[in-house]
Amino acid sequence: MSPEEARAPIQPVRGMNDVLPEQIGAWQHLERCAQRLLGAYGYEELRLPLVERTELFKRSIGEYTDIVEKEMYTFEDAGGDSLTLRPEATAGVARAAISNGLLRGARHKFWCSGAMFRHERPQAGRYRQFHQIDVEALGFAGPDVDVELIALTARLWRELGVTRVRLLINSLGTAAARAIYRERLVEYFRAHETALDEDSRRRLTGNPLRILDSKNPQMRALIEAAPLLTDHLDAESRTHFGALCAALEALDIPYSVNPRLVRGLDYYSRTVFEWVSDALGSQDAVCSGGRYDGLIAQLGGESTPAIGFALGMERCVALMQAAASVPAATPPELYIVASGAQAEREAARLAEQLRDALPGRAVLTNLGGGNFKTQFRRADRSGARLALILGEEELARGVAGVKPLRREGGQSECPLPLLAERIGQLLAQEPVGAAARDETGRG
Ligand code: ATP
Ligand code: MG
Repeated sequence: MSPEEARAPIQPVRGMNDVLPEQIGAWQHLERCAQRLLGAYGYEELRLPLVERTELFKRSIGEYTDIVEKEMYTFEDAGGDSLTLRPEATAGVARAAISNGLLRGARHKFWCSGAMFRHERPQAGRYRQFHQIDVEALGFAGPDVDVELIALTARLWRELGVTRVRLLINSLGTAAARAIYRERLVEYFRAHETALDEDSRRRLTGNPLRILDSKNPQMRALIEAAPLLTDHLDAESRTHFGALCAALEALDIPYSVNPRLVRGLDYYSRTVFEWVSDALGSQDAVCSGGRYDGLIAQLGGESTPAIGFALGMERCVALMQAAASVPAATPPELYIVASGAQAEREAARLAEQLRDALPGRAVLTNLGGGNFKTQFRRADRSGARLALILGEEELARGVAGVKPLRREGGQSECPLPLLAERIGQLLAQEPVGAAARDETGRG
């Protein structure tokens, strides 16, 4: 490596993003709303490893899926185990329920959130590290819980001020019904084998349903004309789906039935749903889920009906930004300006006292010195509502200067022992500060 190369900046990993302070407000708002709402519906948080045994994803998501065929970050660790960065959360939740012995006939409502990893082609709305909020109800046969999950997401959109979303639903029936449908589908695609792309041809023998999920535009017409799973549903699934539709209507949640919605993973059965938006470009799904009654048994647990969904946080943040529904950042309340070594020490002590006396109020101290002009410029840029001024001369008299920064008004003086009370009163009257232009107070 040449000396120039050794000094060159390290590039970020393609498709993996930093979330900077200017976007963090939207992320935190989403996280807080979701956490509050999930708690209110009785869902409990799980925190699971980012890494699982590769086998878990192969056995759950399915061999003939985009994820397992080409998108997994798989590596061998020093002990020779094949491990994979989680591409989705449901498999991990099912694994955790089994390995912690949580099932045994019990029912659980869980949620978790965090980073997922898929080696996809990066583009707007599609990243290699992305984040999901994942919600899973284990041990519930539905359809009541199917409705609850959808109502929860509908409420989340309302609370986030996201309006440009539409609900698509479908039923995939039972495994038995799908087996019959699968034969129809194979007959159909065999008759058009020359029109299939390479992926689809491989899936024709591996998992023909997956062909319906193809993102290749050249396959669209062929897929449109394929036989419909909806026409091959078993009676029980039909009843389940009918009850779901009726309950959504009773709750005034608009939906469209999309008979081609199959979802990209193998483990789904019966109810599948997706929230899509016309504000996201071609990556239009913001929240996708479905029932996976067979998965837990397939992973070696006792047979347990279950349903869940995952919400794509990057896409949700984009929708919040498009709707301009992110609440403005709260600027700090107080910026302490100090001149001279002794005043700076006093400022640090006072700041701690004020943080004790006024919990929840943001108190910034000027860091790194500077003359009063520089310090006032930083105070103004911070967006703070009040400046507290400590000079050698004020200190000698046991007072500090207090100056409003967001309205006209002169500086007043306050004895140090009365400061906390005085500032508390002033903040109750002062207008809320300008949105901070530079929250670190750099300047
Ligand atoms: P898509 O059809 O967009 O590929 P998917 O069917 O692969 O989505 P799921 O695996 O069900 O999606 O994931 C649930 C949600 O996670 C999606 O609705 C989407 O919002 C989000 N998501 C999935 N893959 C990505 C990605 N690579 N980058 C950003 N968000 C993603
Ligand atoms: Mg995908």
